[in-house]
Amino acid sequence: MSFFKGFKVTAEQIGHVVTVQYPEHKRPKPERFHGRHVLNRYEDGMEKCIGCELCAGVCPARCIYVRGADNPEDAPVSPGERYGFVYEINYLRCIHCDLCVEACPTEAITESKLFEFSFTNRQDAIYTKSELVVADDGNPQQLPWEDWNETSRQDTSSWMRATSPSGSAAFEGTTQWSGELGYGVRPPEPPQVVARPKPLDSEAPAADPEGGDGH
Ligand code: SF4
Ligand code: SF4
Repeated sequence: MSFFKGFKVTAEQIGHVVTVQYPEHKRPKPERFHGRHVLNRYEDGMEKCIGCELCAGVCPARCIYVRGADNPEDAPVSPGERYGFVYEINYLRCIHCDLCVEACPTEAITESKLFEFSFTNRQDAIYTKSELVVADDGNPQQLPWEDWNETSRQDTSSWMRATSPSGSAAFEGTTQWSGELGYGVRPPEPPQVVARPKPLDSEAPAADPEGGDGH
């Protein structure tokens, strides 16, 4: 009897297609998909990387190489003293764990959702700073060995944006991250609500010295 029950289950599944014709058809990627990295810029075009090497230090695969340098006074690349002069990621070794993203103090490095690339030589597998830094529209640069579709240009970031990252209720509903070139301050991940930043104490309306209610 159980023999026929097994066949019944099989028969019920006939016609239920769970695969797609890749690469002609591509499924939407999840919000937190980890693809290849981008180096982000502020809304004014300045680079966010300050060359601190924390990402390289935390990387378990040892695939990031960073060299920082002092910002030229007449043409600074990033706000502050230092910027990422050399930046390389070896995608023959990266395991897309995102620890570099977690370690970065300036949100300079995030992972995009781009993952379809193949190399025929080692040099292409090592992404350089000029390839990783976002273009003037804030989106990743398309490299010759990457397979993009019509939505790839929006796959710029899959960084998780939580309004209470440390679990403190004081941060619930307020954005704590900086704006990005071409995108501004991105909203929190759904289903978190988009809220206006809470005013600082110094921005609160001054108390009425007469003690009146203002009417
Ligand atoms: S995602 Fe992980 S393995 Fe890849 S560069 Fe970042 S820290 Fe290294
Ligand atoms: S990407 Fe972030 S952690 Fe890495 S060197 Fe630049 S600022 Fe530092």
